[in-house]
Amino acid sequence: MIQYISNTGGGKPVDFETAILDGFAVDGGLYVPTALPKISLQQLANWKKLGYLELAFEILSLFIDRSVISEIELKTLLHDAYNSFEKSEIIPFHKLKTKKETFIMELFYGPTLSFKDIGLAFLVNLVDFFLKRNNEFKSIIVATTGDTGPATAFFSAGKSNLSAWILYPKGFITEEQERQMTTLAHTNIHPVGVSNCPDGGDDLDLIIAKLYANLDFKNKVQLSSVNSINWGRILMQTVHYFYGYLQMVDHIGEKINVSVPSGAFGNLCAGGLARKMGLPINTFIVANNTNACLHRIFSNGIFQKQPIVETPSSAIDILIPYNFWRYLYFCVNKDSEKIKAWMNEFKTNGQIHFDAGTHNSYAEGFLSASINDGQTLETIASIYKNESYLLDPHGAVALKAVEQLKNELEDLKTLCLATAHPAKFTKITKRALKGKEIPDKGKHHSIEKAKTRCEKVYLCDHLHAEAALTQVMLTDWDLKNEK
Ligand SMILES: *Cc1c(COP(=O)(O)O)cnc(C)c1O
Repeated sequence: MIQYISNTGGGKPVDFETAILDGFAVDGGLYVPTALPKISLQQLANWKKLGYLELAFEILSLFIDRSVISEIELKTLLHDAYNSFEKSEIIPFHKLKTKKETFIMELFYGPTLSFKDIGLAFLVNLVDFFLKRNNEFKSIIVATTGDTGPATAFFSAGKSNLSAWILYPKGFITEEQERQMTTLAHTNIHPVGVSNCPDGGDDLDLIIAKLYANLDFKNKVQLSSVNSINWGRILMQTVHYFYGYLQMVDHIGEKINVSVPSGAFGNLCAGGLARKMGLPINTFIVANNTNACLHRIFSNGIFQKQPIVETPSSAIDILIPYNFWRYLYFCVNKDSEKIKAWMNEFKTNGQIHFDAGTHNSYAEGFLSASINDGQTLETIASIYKNESYLLDPHGAVALKAVEQLKNELEDLKTLCLATAHPAKFTKITKRALKGKEIPDKGKHHSIEKAKTRCEKVYLCDHLHAEAALTQVMLTDWDLKNEK
């Protein structure tokens, strides 16, 4: 029996289904598997020729008991989740011409054009599958820095067993991202624009934590979340590391470097766990913009919140990378008491200086960088000029970080994760290319179509958001359940 427990030690072990439907663990911690499976080089070699969906099936099967989801159910879930992707291979690669052995992993060919589609396509379908089977109904709440929201909305649209509440910091996301959420006409999708957020998306995480802490409310509306606090997101995101590795290497066992534009550390937590399972990644590059919380954690062992700065790579304008706690758990011999103490210390003091032993235990095999706005824009411009390839600002942060760290990196093939389509960031593309026109590569028909639709959205002020949401979610719940 494969079981999941809280990384802060509270509650009892649960099965995969409970971990997915709960979102947060009962004690407010993050669910983790009690053990990580080990993958041998032989196993990797057997997987070398698999397509993305076949590989996903193999990896997920290591974490999900067949008694919870049967073989045929898992195959069907995966197939249904990814049939809305634009490319049949799901994730394509692009080899850069002007950089040595550097490959861009294009994670943005899902229906809402960001890497969030990869995790959420599966997770939202999975939640719906469990709810239908149990004849249950849930309110799903997420906070977004621009990409989780559209993906949650798209995959939740029309699913009769769930209502999706999507909080976004008004003014901190692009117009394109906003319209991706607000132009879906389905009655079970509720985008909520929260104005006057002092800390951008991080404020919304706090509001959600408060709603979770209101147990009467939480139980009444059957609250859950598909943010990357949910184990299902992390699990699904391990797959693209295996897939990318297998697509890139000439022989199994060859080592590569991987650069990841990082905010909440959900993507890299998955990468780090894939390596702990046995994937031969030499160095992970933690690519931050000027909101450099992760860079400070990895370079000098200091976890400290600083004021938010708006940047061109707005999806990673994040102050508190909560999935770091999930990864750290596996680096300190699964000592949940330590994790709990650190999390409390952070809550009380707003900062932690990790001791040298702890710092080494999590930073091994990682390098980090903080890329500023000018460097991001220059990278977009130079790659477009030199090889007419258009990066989005997050992909540009990842690529620039590799360049900045090149003297410290071993000379290996490098995989750069491009996490969004540039069509979600047309203002940034214009600024970077210093042109009035967006090149065709920077447009997408789905974004153009959203411009022609009506918007439907709730708006509230940060100051009143908790009370306003409680009220509107209860009303919605009662209306649905009267029917
Ligand atoms: C969410 C997001 C990221 C960061 O992923 P984390 O898992 O939060 O580190 C990077 N790029 C884009 C475009 C995103 O939407």
